[in-house]
Amino acid sequence: MLDADFFRRWMTVTAASVEREAERLTALDSPIGDADHGSNLRRGFTAVAATLEKEAPDTPGAVLTLAGRQLISTVGGASGPLYGTLLRRTGKALGDAGEVSEEQLAEALRAGVEAVMTLGGAAPGDKTMIDTLVPAVDALGTGFAAARTAAEQGALATTPLQARKGRASYLGERSIGHQDPGATSAALLIAALAEAAG
Ligand code: ADP
Ligand code: MG
Ligand code: MG
Repeated sequence: MLDADFFRRWMTVTAASVEREAERLTALDSPIGDADHGSNLRRGFTAVAATLEKEAPDTPGAVLTLAGRQLISTVGGASGPLYGTLLRRTGKALGDAGEVSEEQLAEALRAGVEAVMTLGGAAPGDKTMIDTLVPAVDALGTGFAAARTAAEQGALATTPLQARKGRASYLGERSIGHQDPGATSAALLIAALAEAAG
């Protein structure tokens, strides 16, 4: 079973890996965006880690809804409301249980990813974080390691795609040949899940 500590660990491991990879995320956002994805997420997840430490929410659902709210209020770019919605909706789906199963997490994350698709209007193949999150959630039934592999493959597979959502879509065919920054950060989020599980 997964308790509030596990979910706090997921968020702090994500914050650490975003910090470590911030320059790479911003570099990916340079040719097909406005070169701020790493700094956007670094600001957001630093605030998430600080808030979780201060407020110490004691259920999985409360950890994720607080984290999601924090991302929405601290990240100016498109990714803030999108990741914020992912975590808030996932947290809401987990309810107020003190512990949840991996299966419940997989189901809740699916609801979270669907909320992101509703908010942003992106579908798989549009060259966004959705290209990482959908295969990751599909693989989660097989375990965290499988989800991580699927996420990393999903992110790599955005390179040959033409962007149809977000800033990169303004470039039309010129968006082809670049890995999507949001799909890349989404793979960090999923990898952190596997790392938090140990
Ligand atoms: P901004 O584009 O506002 O500067 P960021 O650079 O932080 O925001 O985030 C860009 C990432 O957000 C993209 O690489 C893409 O993965 C994701 N993204 C943008 N628009 C959408 C959308 N409508 N649906 C899903 N993901 C999106
Ligand atoms: Mg950007
Ligand atoms: Mg921006």
